[in-house]
Amino acid sequence: MKKFGLFIGGKWVVPDSKARFISLNPATKKPVASFPSANEKDVLYAISIAKAAFPKWSAIPAPKRGEVLLRFASLLRKNKERLARVVTQEMGKVLLEARGDVQEAIDAAEYMAGEGRRLFGYTAPSELPNKAAFTVREPIGVCALITPWNFPVAIPAWKMMPALVCGNTVVFKPSSDTPLCAAMFVELLHEAGIPGGVVNMVTGSGGIVGPVLVQNPDVRTVSFTGNRETGEWIAKNAGVKKIGLELGGKNPIIIMDDADLHLALEGVLWGAFGTTGQRCTAASRVIVHEKVFAEFEKMLVVAAKKLRLGSGASSSADVGPLINQKALEKSQYFVSVGIKEGARLLCGGKRGPHSGFFFEPTVFSGVAQKMRVAREEIFGPIVCLIKVKNLAEAIKTANDVDYGLSASIYTKGISNAFKAIEQLESGIVYVNASTIGAEVHLPFGGVKGTGNGVREAGIEGINEFSETKTVYIDYSGKLQRAQIDD
Ligand code: NAP
Repeated sequence: MKKFGLFIGGKWVVPDSKARFISLNPATKKPVASFPSANEKDVLYAISIAKAAFPKWSAIPAPKRGEVLLRFASLLRKNKERLARVVTQEMGKVLLEARGDVQEAIDAAEYMAGEGRRLFGYTAPSELPNKAAFTVREPIGVCALITPWNFPVAIPAWKMMPALVCGNTVVFKPSSDTPLCAAMFVELLHEAGIPGGVVNMVTGSGGIVGPVLVQNPDVRTVSFTGNRETGEWIAKNAGVKKIGLELGGKNPIIIMDDADLHLALEGVLWGAFGTTGQRCTAASRVIVHEKVFAEFEKMLVVAAKKLRLGSGASSSADVGPLINQKALEKSQYFVSVGIKEGARLLCGGKRGPHSGFFFEPTVFSGVAQKMRVAREEIFGPIVCLIKVKNLAEAIKTANDVDYGLSASIYTKGISNAFKAIEQLESGIVYVNASTIGAEVHLPFGGVKGTGNGVREAGIEGINEFSETKTVYIDYSGKLQRAQIDD
């Protein structure tokens, strides 16, 4: 098993901390790689190196920074299969999806490379004569990027590509479940020509590394994707710095009585059981019109029972393992909660027959929106069927959660579709498509408990990682007072 150091200043370094941890293959529970559990001194060192690298990197013209990202995209392309196999090995998702994870990073790198030639500000007329007004974008400084395990390549790319093209330097803290994916990511970035010190990676417990990053005054922004409790802790403890929080979801699919049920079924299977239900945008509630409820329920159970659990590396598997023992126990716990609350377990509900962290695709029916299984994020392959009388009740039910990331409606009616687009409380709405499938050039993020209003990806990613400077140039040669002089 390969033993890594911390990646600081463009090379692997021996940490001060002697403690280490091992990432596991969730399909086999076999060790994958060994990484340092960084201590406070290690994290402070990484921050100091990122701070020292900032003046030089931020002075490089943005189009040149973009060229490095383009080289990175091409290296990712070259290494796509190798990296995808490591994603499957360490995170568990099936290979087809692991390739998608890497592809999303390629897309993000290519898109943000192009931003190197834009990074647009805007001009506006001044209220005074002989005075110009415009804005420019500037980097923020050292960014702490704290990421989860479920998209171990795509999410770091969503954050790091805009951060770098804007001229920031980075301390990257990947999830302790997927450090090898992160290690390959930073190695490829350096092969692409990122100067030493611009991207630094510290591994170790979020509870130790996280607070040092979040509370350090030299870290000017924290971009975090993960669970709500951690996000709330960061919001309370980051002090006066810019923070981006991408948290959980309890995403609904509404199926109307005029929907194409076969299309809706495909969307529900993909949304609920793709990535073993471990996507922030996973469809965990399916809200079905009473006229088609019984038919759809039957169709879903038949189809869910056919899904094949297995190692993501096997071409015969549809659904891979959960990430770890804790996730397995959480799914088991929520099955018992659902049964106790009176929901009907139609299929699944048990761990798989394999030695890894497998859990069967699970369908609950007869679910009421007040039940915990319909309100709390489970992050496993468990979907709840809820019956409603009409669109108004469907939308009310969909909105009756603390989260608001992604929502979908299946209908052939344009009026249903537009009402849903208007009234669903979520950052992303799909019509006749599942709740998952974000594209990198469009904003990503949610409302209510899903985040703090920051959006990632596309131009919003540039907004997240740049400061706006407003410039006034007075060429009148005299004192002109805004709001006072005519
Ligand atoms: P998590 O436990 O919050 O971990 C996320 C990251 O935060 C990890 O790197 C973790 O390190 C670190 N961390 C833990 N405690 C910390 C602290 N006190 N301060 C700073 N960082 C800390 O979340 P997860 O279980 O990995 O990810 C699943 C969650 O992410 C779900 O809730 C899902 O909905 C959400 N998610 C949201 C989006 C979105 O865009 N909205 C996308 C994907 C996932 P360790 O690994 O060392 O604990």
